[in-house]
Amino acid sequence: MTEQSEETAENRIIDVYLIAREHLPAWYPRGQSISVLEDGIALSSEKPLPPPGELSRDFLRFVRKSARTLADRNFNSVRLRDSPDFVWDPESSFAFSQGFRTLNRKQSLAFTPEVAGNSGFQDLLGVTAWVRDTIDLPGNLLTPDSYQKELEKLQELAGGRFSIKKISGSELDSAGFSGIATVGQGSVNPPCLYILDYAPSGDTAPVFMSLAGKGITFDTGGYSLKPSGLMKSMHSDMGGSATVAGALALLALSGFPGRVRAYLACAENMISGSAMRVGDIIRYRNGKTVVIDNTDAEGRLVLADALLAAAGDGGYILDAATLTGAAKVALGREYHAVLSLSDSLAESFIRAAGSVSEYAWRLPLEEFHLDLVKSGLADITNSVPDGPGATTAAAFLAQFVANREKWLHLDLSASYQKTPGFGYGLGARGHGIRSIARFVKDLWGFR
Ligand SMILES: [Zn+2]
Repeated sequence: MTEQSEETAENRIIDVYLIAREHLPAWYPRGQSISVLEDGIALSSEKPLPPPGELSRDFLRFVRKSARTLADRNFNSVRLRDSPDFVWDPESSFAFSQGFRTLNRKQSLAFTPEVAGNSGFQDLLGVTAWVRDTIDLPGNLLTPDSYQKELEKLQELAGGRFSIKKISGSELDSAGFSGIATVGQGSVNPPCLYILDYAPSGDTAPVFMSLAGKGITFDTGGYSLKPSGLMKSMHSDMGGSATVAGALALLALSGFPGRVRAYLACAENMISGSAMRVGDIIRYRNGKTVVIDNTDAEGRLVLADALLAAAGDGGYILDAATLTGAAKVALGREYHAVLSLSDSLAESFIRAAGSVSEYAWRLPLEEFHLDLVKSGLADITNSVPDGPGATTAAAFLAQFVANREKWLHLDLSASYQKTPGFGYGLGARGHGIRSIARFVKDLWGFR
């Protein structure tokens, strides 16, 4: 290999540092935030650089977007370097790493020794990478059954601090998980429910927080078939399950003292002679009957089972799901939608998200919305034609929650993106893991 080819952007290790705009060389064009200089790449924002420990969400967004731009320009080997103007800390380094990450490309990113030696930072980096990588697995490489292998990797990352239990196939029927069984009945890959249990003070301790996640490993829509363009990203329809599993792992790694359980409701929504039909009626464990008016509204059908299981724990319940297009229409790809019948829980979640530099926004949910899912054919329908979609989905879920004042629902509009943008590459974003972990800690009063 010649000297020259080693100097291409693709394989040269390049230092990246932040610099105050007034310290850029005088000859350099003003108004640029990325400057390729002799000793590396200087990032300089319009606004003055913040002091250590006071990094705003806007500033971290600038860092993330800069990292994304470098990755888009094929800088694949980067080393973060401190400058007299700015010292990289775990928060800014994490923001950079998240923007830099590119699916399907070999990259190397080195952090400063201080940051690299920070165990909390390494835990966050590892868990987030697991969540993003797992969501990005295509449907043929992640089935409800093979999800176990991935969960075991997460368990290892978390030092074996939580257990994994699996209920699958005919066991689902005998245990009364009719929603998961019905959604998965059309696929050759049998559906299942995973239960992750983090019990730091033993198996008899009460459960403080039960998490529930939608784990549709591929969603064709079923007989209410999706058009091909909309089906393309549907391997990511298990994003809720990966996000809550990641949050549980983060909590375990941080030494959180309370017991946390996660229920991952997994199925593949396919078409076959045994698939659910439009008009089928299913009966849940709590006696509620549901008519399936749209087989593509399957997420709420599987989540209902997870919520019923979580209700048995008696603690707080948070569920997370890539549930509706309506949430994305309302909030775009930057915010997760928060829905709750408890003002204080909704406010706590939004505060928690802000404190870890993530974005969450509340959508309406009131007691009167619960009437919108009533049906003449069964107790309730899984599809309300003209309703506010994110709200009616939550109203459906509310029917399966015993103590609604202790329940919060997340519609994960910012979990995945089909094209690069907003400072992220194509694919899973990992957004929400930290918000959930922070929210649980805040409820407990754990720093
Ligand atoms: Zn669907």
